[in-house]
Amino acid sequence: MSSSSKRREFLAVAGASAAAGALAGQPSAAGEPRPPAPSGTRGTVLALGAHYDDGAFGVPGVLLQAVAKGYRVVQLTLIGDYENWKPVRGRGPALVEGTRKIAADYGIESQFLGFASGTLTVTEESKRVVAEAVAEVKPDIALVLWPRDRHPDHEAAAELGQAALRLGDRLLPDPAAPWHPPRRTYFYDNGPRHTIGFEPDTFVDVSGEWPRAIAWLGRLMALTRNEEFEPETLDGAQRLKESLARYRGSTCGVEYAEALASANAYPRSIL
Ligand SMILES: [Zn+2]
Repeated sequence: MSSSSKRREFLAVAGASAAAGALAGQPSAAGEPRPPAPSGTRGTVLALGAHYDDGAFGVPGVLLQAVAKGYRVVQLTLIGDYENWKPVRGRGPALVEGTRKIAADYGIESQFLGFASGTLTVTEESKRVVAEAVAEVKPDIALVLWPRDRHPDHEAAAELGQAALRLGDRLLPDPAAPWHPPRRTYFYDNGPRHTIGFEPDTFVDVSGEWPRAIAWLGRLMALTRNEEFEPETLDGAQRLKESLARYRGSTCGVEYAEALASANAYPRSIL
């Protein structure tokens, strides 16, 4: 099977054709989705992760900010097969579809590849599959997991993401095909229980997005447990994220922040 047909099969398995949903009429109380600005007018932001919750835990505030500023926001999750993951035994496809719907409520598009949890490895084939997905998204700004991590899926996803973002055109079946490299790439972390040695150099104030960011994560965790979302109660993942966001906020003098590490040195105006 050719790599492109295999990728199409991966996408079909994960049902990746759905995009961000229409939000008109949705309530906009704290934590609730709001209608996004017109998508894509500022470019495309891609968050690349291993698992369904990596973007919603790592950079939800940044992604919601990007939606509000008019970016098309895509989260590309390499693992779309959760049939072997005990917490969702028998509910793998429902987890993927539910993740997609929750993200769409916030104006974010989800794509899943067909890799299975715990089996993600860096091979020529997996690098090509990820590069083809990145080539289709055409990101202007890319966010990728930090490469040192206690979870093997995270390390593999970080390596695959970097390969696709830095040298993706050379991994495609046709290296001469049009290629849209991201202007900027940043690493994001997966919290103190997983990430090792993360030293951020870029802090984003997400205080304005915080109610919706923490609600997005809470909805995802409720979906994982197959329970109703309870907005008044923070679960373990939300408490961990809150601690981290407050710590990052304290680091840069705001209430809540998310921290990134530049994949390259980028010039900034300081005046
Ligand atoms: Zn993860």
